[in-house]
Amino acid sequence: MAVTTLEKRLLVGGEWVETGEWIEVRSPYSGDIVARVPKAGADEARRAVDAAEQAMADPLPAHKRAEILVRVAGYLGKRHEEVAQTISAEAGKPMKAARVEAARAMSTYTFAAVEARKLAGDMVPMDASQAGEGKLAFTLRRPIGVIGAISPFNFPLNLVAHKIAPALAAGCAVVLKPASQTPLSALLLAELEHEAGLPPGWLNVLTGPAAEIGDVLVEDERVKLITFTGSSGVGWALRERAARKKVALELGNATPVIVEADADLDEAATKLAANGFSFAGQSCISVQRIYVQRDAYDGFLERFLPRVEALQAGDPADEDTDVGPVIDDDARKRILEWVEEARALGAEVLSGGDADGSVIRPTVIAGAPKDAKVSCEEVFGPVVTVSAYDAFDEAIELANGTRYGLQAGIFTADVRRALDAAQRLEFGGVTVNEAPTFRADQMPYGGVKDSGTTREGPAYAVREMTEERIVVLQL
Ligand code: NAP
Repeated sequence: MAVTTLEKRLLVGGEWVETGEWIEVRSPYSGDIVARVPKAGADEARRAVDAAEQAMADPLPAHKRAEILVRVAGYLGKRHEEVAQTISAEAGKPMKAARVEAARAMSTYTFAAVEARKLAGDMVPMDASQAGEGKLAFTLRRPIGVIGAISPFNFPLNLVAHKIAPALAAGCAVVLKPASQTPLSALLLAELEHEAGLPPGWLNVLTGPAAEIGDVLVEDERVKLITFTGSSGVGWALRERAARKKVALELGNATPVIVEADADLDEAATKLAANGFSFAGQSCISVQRIYVQRDAYDGFLERFLPRVEALQAGDPADEDTDVGPVIDDDARKRILEWVEEARALGAEVLSGGDADGSVIRPTVIAGAPKDAKVSCEEVFGPVVTVSAYDAFDEAIELANGTRYGLQAGIFTADVRRALDAAQRLEFGGVTVNEAPTFRADQMPYGGVKDSGTTREGPAYAVREMTEERIVVLQL
């Protein structure tokens, strides 16, 4: 019996194209082929940059950009289930989490539409200096130029939305390279933008060898900004090579949370169990390291472990599943090796620590030393460490004991402690009595240290994607 595989095409200059070569997209859960997408290379990437440059030669007014963005938000609402199923099938994301991501992308488009309508410069108070007397000046916010966007596998829809929606709001055309493992949500989003009336060339989507397409984006001078979300090594290497362009990096984290003894332990245990393992820990702000004040340590574990053990691990398509597979065999092998390393260094595995087929069971590790990889590097898997501390200063030092700095959290009833932590935790965001996995799409979101250089969230991304031009008038 003939089996038909879903075949997708790439979007270049408003045309849906094939290249004659294909990349298979497989389910991380079953290994079955979900679809195939054309494999593009440097030639297609150059054509895409040509198309983007041409598109920008005929600027779209802000009201048209906003209308397209609003329309896409509407289509995402109408096709919510299909969108969630696409995310789930290619990323192995449980349907519960895939639906949340699909809904969040609507919010990202809605906020981007607002930004398109209010994009404006500032008045400059010229007579505030003697030199400016008799002059009027204001700034214009101009689109920065063609944007190269590179996105990761773990939020294949909403992290693409966080690049292409603000880019359109800012008036910039985009060449997008989504992760090879998860290109389908990005292509679906491109289809929705196309249907919403986006003229040719404003969005071009290519899948194929990352280094080859990445090299074109780095080397082509017409690409003025590369916006990259992904791993730290790849991101920083891109930035080094693209010294003359703006490179916005959204990278990893090894997310810490401090739980003070005065915290509501039930609330902390519930939120941290849910946010350490959702999408198998493959969120850049998945809870990874929990530091509990010694007096509350046993009480916290008594509450936390049963909640972790109640999580359903298995098939992401199953409505009850909380924890699905990690993205591929290499990731699974690496994560289990890190668990073994912690065990060999004297840590105790309180729960999980092994895999059932493609799914790693939710794993809780106690007493991992500071230099174990699970204590300082990004696990990006369903593994959480729990450790006791005595003094608050020690907790801050432990939380900061990583090269990363994206988000961190604290649970406490003492507002002064919370504000002290907010000042001293070296992260781009600090949550109080909320898991640091929390993100609303209008927030400024991004890291310090090795976690990156930028802030996403439409209002902040639009700032990055535009340049200020000063206009001075002699009166
Ligand atoms: P990754 O391996 O770095 O891949 C990210 C993207 O970069 C993919 O599209 C990949 O393409 C591409 N890429 C790889 N090598 C490249 C090169 N030499 N030149 C240009 N592009 C290249 O990351 P991932 O495994 O997909 O995602 C996980 C990482 O992303 C984690 O570290 C996570 O913390 C981070 N992340 C950060 C945020 C944030 O907002 N801060 C959000 C989500 C994820 P291929 O797929 O074709 O290799």
